[in-house]
Amino acid sequence: MDLTGKTAIVTGGSRGIGRAICLELARRGANVVFSYAGNKTAADETLSELEAAGAQARAVQGDVTSADAAKELVDTAKSAFGGVDILVNNAGITRDKLAARMSEEDFDAVIATNLKGAFLMTKAVLRPMMRAKSGAIVNMASVVGIMGNAGQANYAASKAGLIGMSKSVAREVAAAGIRVNAVAPGYIETDMTAAMPEAAQQAMCSMIPAARPGSPEDVARAVAFLVSDDASYITGQVLAVDGGMAM
Ligand code: NDP
Repeated sequence: MDLTGKTAIVTGGSRGIGRAICLELARRGANVVFSYAGNKTAADETLSELEAAGAQARAVQGDVTSADAAKELVDTAKSAFGGVDILVNNAGITRDKLAARMSEEDFDAVIATNLKGAFLMTKAVLRPMMRAKSGAIVNMASVVGIMGNAGQANYAASKAGLIGMSKSVAREVAAAGIRVNAVAPGYIETDMTAAMPEAAQQAMCSMIPAARPGSPEDVARAVAFLVSDDASYITGQVLAVDGGMAM
C-alpha cells in the first residue's frame, strides 16, 4: 500500500472521514490536495497534521457542486505536484426527514453535493488520468445506499447513485488503466453521526454485528488499499466498511 510520489485529491478533507483519508494517504507517501466547504479552522488543522507528518499538502476552499471548484482542485494538484493519480470523492451532507415531509430543496441539495459533486470531480480528473493511462478513484457511498434508511430518501438515493456511477465509469475507463471503486461505510463516529438524534444513533449501533461503531481510520485504511497498486485488478466494486452491518 505504498503511495510514494502519487498525488491524491480528497474532497471534504477538513473533518471526519476525509481528514483521516488525507492523513492515511500521506502516511503512505502521497502528496495531498484536499477541499473543504467553509470550515477554515478545521481545514487548517488537517493541513497542520499533514505537514507535521512530513507530507506535502494543499487545502482549497470550494463547493463540490461547482465545476469551477473541481477545476481549481485539479489545477492545484497539477501546478503543485505535476498531476493527479488518485481521487477520493468523500464530501457529503445529510438533510434528513421522512419523505412525506422532505422539501424539494433538501432533496436537491443532498443529490447536488453527494452525487453531482462526485460526477464533476470525476469528469475533471479523467482527462489527465487518461493521458497518464493510470489512476484510481474511490467514491464514498454508504450502507444506506444499499439497505435504505427511513428519513434518508435523499441521502440513500445519492449513495445508491454513487454506486451505479462508480460501476458505469469503471466500465468506461478500465481499459485506459483507471480503476473506480466505492466504499460503503456503516456507522462511523464523526460530526455527521454525532448530529443524529440519540435514539437513531442507538438504533444504528444495535445493527452492527461487530458491536462497535467504526472510526474514520477504519474507512481510511480501506480507501488506501483500493487506491494502491495492491488493488490493481480491482475495479467496479463496493467495499463495505461496516462491522458486518449490511452483509
Ligand atoms: P463530516 O460531516 O464529518 O464532514 C464532511 C466533510 O465534507 C467536511 O470536510 C465538509 O467541509 C465537507 N463538505 C460538505 N459539503 C461540502 C461541499 N459542498 N463542498 C466541499 N466540501 C464539503 O462527514 P463524515 O466524515 O462523517 O462523512 C464523510 C463522507 O462519508 C460523506 O460522504 C458521508 O456521506 C460518508 N459516510 C459517512 C458515514 C458516517 O457514519 N459518518 C457513513 C457512511 C458514509 P467543512 O468542514 O468545510 O464543512
